[in-house]
Amino acid sequence: MRCPKCGSENIAINTYQESRGAGCFTVLFYIILAFTILGLLIVIPLMLRKKTRTVTACVCKTCGHKWKI
Ligand SMILES: [Zn+2]
Repeated sequence: MRCPKCGSENIAINTYQESRGAGCFTVLFYIILAFTILGLLIVIPLMLRKKTRTVTACVCKTCGHKWKI
């Protein structure tokens, strides 16, 4: 794997838990969805899901560029 920015192979891989923070657009999207019957079927399972997810991210040790896999 190479850094997409500088092409270096000197990278570190980090795995961490990320909380799913609901942004303004996400909340608005859910509200619009909730007004439709189909939306309710989508929104309810989403709300019941776990609020955290595992994120794997790479950090380039050469230029400091970070990106998610
Ligand atoms: Zn780099």
